[in-house]
Order: sequence, then structure tokens, then C-alpha cells
Amino acid sequence: NRRWVLASRPAGKPQMDNFRLEEAPVPEPQDGQVLVQTLYLSLDPYMRGRMSAADSYADSVGIGEVMVGGTVGRVVASKHSDFAPGDLVSAFSGWQEYAALPGATLSKLDARIKPLSYALGVLGMPGLTAYVGLLDIGEPKPGETVVLAASTGAVGSVVGQIAKLKGCRVVGIAGAQEKCRYAVEELGYDACVSHYDDDMAEQLAAQCPDGIDVYFENVGGSSWEAVMPLLNTFARIPVCGLIAHYNQTELPPGPDRMSVLQSQILVNRWKMQGFIIGDHLDRSGDFVRDVGTWLAQGKIKYREDVVDGLENAPEAFFGLFQGANFGKLVVKVAS
Ligand code: NDP
Repeated sequence: NRRWVLASRPAGKPQMDNFRLEEAPVPEPQDGQVLVQTLYLSLDPYMRGRMSAADSYADSVGIGEVMVGGTVGRVVASKHSDFAPGDLVSAFSGWQEYAALPGATLSKLDARIKPLSYALGVLGMPGLTAYVGLLDIGEPKPGETVVLAASTGAVGSVVGQIAKLKGCRVVGIAGAQEKCRYAVEELGYDACVSHYDDDMAEQLAAQCPDGIDVYFENVGGSSWEAVMPLLNTFARIPVCGLIAHYNQTELPPGPDRMSVLQSQILVNRWKMQGFIIGDHLDRSGDFVRDVGTWLAQGKIKYREDVVDGLENAPEAFFGLFQGANFGKLVVKVAS
């Protein structure tokens, strides 16, 4: 049973020596437990937070502990009456090949989900994040302009396509030109600008002639800087993630603009709301019905970036912070 454990806490960007690949015996399931073999491991930006000892909404991974993560797996042995060998499940078993888990922490997967890894993406946590963040917090209305950053990724690609289905003008922000092209040609966005361009703010302004009504924040940094001056009165800003800041070790130099931001929020009556998807699992039923239908109808497309082999997980994970992934990043651990 190969597994990646946290060897040390990163200062700034995570590095290879923050991880250690270990070999351990395959665990024996106890009463109430199920032995699951990992087929796919999801790699997500939040894992950077779990590597840190800083206070957050979830506990950090301890030094020497297996890295956490969502997985899709196959039941190998079961001491829980609800599960039998061969069942496909979604689990939170982390960066390892096998885990013995309480049956209550598993959900059975419909074997018709194709590919199965969609349970970690468009039909899983990132998809639900997009659905709840955009619809419940962003409240987009037909004709409004929706802007989103990391707009071709696991969450962003679903946000942008749902916003199109709701009748909005959608302008994405992405890194590589290839991603921007994909956003327009495949995902159907009205435009997409690159944050690699020095004049990104001007390009964004040109693509948003009526201002911005909803900004789905995945990134922070230069994206937020470009968006803020364009936000309309009563704009909604679901704050989903701030990936541009996850590896930051100190605050940027001043001046302190906190009061400027607060007065902009006040006079423009913006609604800026952070959310953590674990608080919104009651929306799962509606999400699976709606997004499942749109996917089956071909109204939502979903791109995955599948990396082969558990041994390659850390390297692939680093790529999330450099835009190396193109689509939802998953590791294929076993067939
Ligand atoms: P993605 O699949 O979008 O991958 C991350 C992308 O972020 C990269 O491909 C890159 O895209 C962009 N990026 C990385 N570093 C920077 C940077 N310094 N500046 C600008 N862009 C950068 O990831 P996810 O869809 O899984 O996650 C998107 C966001 O959503 C993250 O912030 C994540 O933490 C958050 N999230 C929040 C949840 C919640 O419950 N609140 C749940 C799930 C995700 P590009 O090449 O286009 O720049």
C-alpha cells in the first residue's frame, strides 16, 4: 500500500521534500469498516491549506500523516452490511492505494457515471461548489454580466457554463491563450482574457461594456484588481477561492487600502460572501439533478487533466499553482 505522507510544512510554494512516499501493509477492515482500493484521487487547491498549521475551517494534516483527498474507489472487502466487494464508492481516503474506512463515510456511486472520475469533478465537490456559489450566492439574472477567474478549471468551467445557461454574458479570465480559446470555442463564453497580458484590465473593461454584475472569485490578486473598478451597484461576489495567495508568506507592501474597499462595498451595495462547500451539502440533490441533466444533454462540457500513477501526485499538485493543469486535475491510481 503506497501512500504519500506530509513530511514537513511548506514555507511558500510546496516542494517535493514536503512529501514522503511510504510503503505500508494493506489494512484489515474492522467491524463496520470497508476496505477500499483507490481508483482516482482528486487533487485540489484546498490541500495547500491542509499542509499548513494556520487556523482554518478544517484541521491540518499532521506531520507523518497521509495527505487528505477525495477519491473514487472499489470495495475489496467489507465488514459493513451496506457494501459488498466490487461496489464503486466515493470516499475521502487520501493519497494512498488502499484504506479501511467506516462504511458511514462512504457513498455508493452509480456505475453508469462515465468516466467515473466525474464523481470528483463536474458531478462532485467542484461541480457542487460552482452550482451553489453561482446560483445561491451570485444570483445571476438573464442579461447580466458574469466574470470569473480560473475560468477553465474544475470549478470555473462549470460556473461559466451554468451562467451561460442562465442567459448571462460570460467573460472568463484564464492564463494560457490555449485556455482562453477553449473557454470561448468549447465552453461558449462570450470572451476570455489572459491574466498573463499586461493590459488584462483594459481588455476586461472592453469586454464588459455594461460593467460586472457577478464576479465569481477563485483567484484574487490581479484578477480582483482588474474586476473591482468594473463592478456595478448591487454586484454579487461569491468568494470561493484565492489561489493567487495560497503560497504567499507575507502581506504585499502598502498603502493600506482596506478602508477604500469597505467604502466601495458600502456605497456600491456589493454583496461579498465567502462560502465553504461542506456547509451546503443539502443542495446535493438539486445539483445532481440539474448538472446531471445538463451534462447528459451536452449543455455542459467537462475537461479533465488525468495524471497517471500515484507516484506523480505531488508534481501534479504543484502544477495547480502555476496553471499547469488544463481541466479538473485527477490522478489515476489503479484501473
Ligand atoms: P482549477 O482546476 O481552476 O486549477 C487552479 C487554477 O488556478 C490554475 O489552473 C490556474 O488557472 C489558476 N491559478 C493558479 N495560480 C494562480 C495565480 N497565482 N494567479 C492566477 N491564477 C492562478 O482549480 P479548482 O477549480 O479546483 O479551484 C478553483 C478555486 O476554487 C480555488 O481557489 C479553490 O481553492 C476554490 N475552491 C473553493 C471551494 C469552496 O468550498 N470554497 C471548493 C472548491 C474549490 P489559469 O491557468 O487559468 O491561470
